[in-house]
Amino acid sequence: MADENMRIQELSVRLDEVIAKIEKARLKVSAHHIVQLVAVSKYTDETDIGLLFELGQRAFGESQVQQLSTRMQKLEELPIEWHMIGRLQKNKINKLIELRPALLHSLDSLELAEALNKRLENKNTKMRALLQLNSAKEASKAGVSPDEAADIYAQIEESCRNIELCGLMSIGAHSDDREEIKRSFEMTRKVFDTLNSPSASICSMGMSGDFELAIECGSNMVRVGSMIFTKA
Ligand SMILES: *Cc1c(COP(=O)(O)O)cnc(C)c1O
Repeated sequence: MADENMRIQELSVRLDEVIAKIEKARLKVSAHHIVQLVAVSKYTDETDIGLLFELGQRAFGESQVQQLSTRMQKLEELPIEWHMIGRLQKNKINKLIELRPALLHSLDSLELAEALNKRLENKNTKMRALLQLNSAKEASKAGVSPDEAADIYAQIEESCRNIELCGLMSIGAHSDDREEIKRSFEMTRKVFDTLNSPSASICSMGMSGDFELAIECGSNMVRVGSMIFTKA
């Protein structure tokens, strides 16, 4: 119990710090620029998730379907908004559909969209999703390229009627050069702004190391893990 008290205090300080940073960055954009925080819990345990929930956090992100499933079950009494943020393997599609996540951030190809849509049709259900953009065109990263993104987005909207596309997700360039990371966020925002769709409302970018920069470049959803959960 003493440990839990100490941990909740630690998490409270971390969460307040992250929220203060988000607040400062979003106000640089506009008083009307609202940013949602998704707490990425993949590095931590269910106890921490429960404590952060007590502190008021409602949206949590996981990167693996199996882990998401286990945690949804263990924490089923809490009204958590669960996000799936990691790469989705085709053989996990059915499992993910059963879990009914609030949002899938990592729809990374037309092929995956078509496979997901088919399963959703079979089960007569829908899923909200973001198209993942590989904004810096890195070989190590998933996602569609910036030049094709608008076309693929339109194609999914047209032909995958059981997927409710809500915008874009991208991971900042893997670099120590802030300018390069900034360029990758600006690229994502530029593509986001050219999506010719009223449903495109979410631009998910920014992690522990770069979320303030991402917000200044137009992100309205940040996915923060280690800055909240890493043990001191
Ligand atoms: C792990 C992960 C995050 C969070 O990363 P941190 O640097 O710990 O904040 C965000 N987005 C995705 C897609 C991730 O896999």
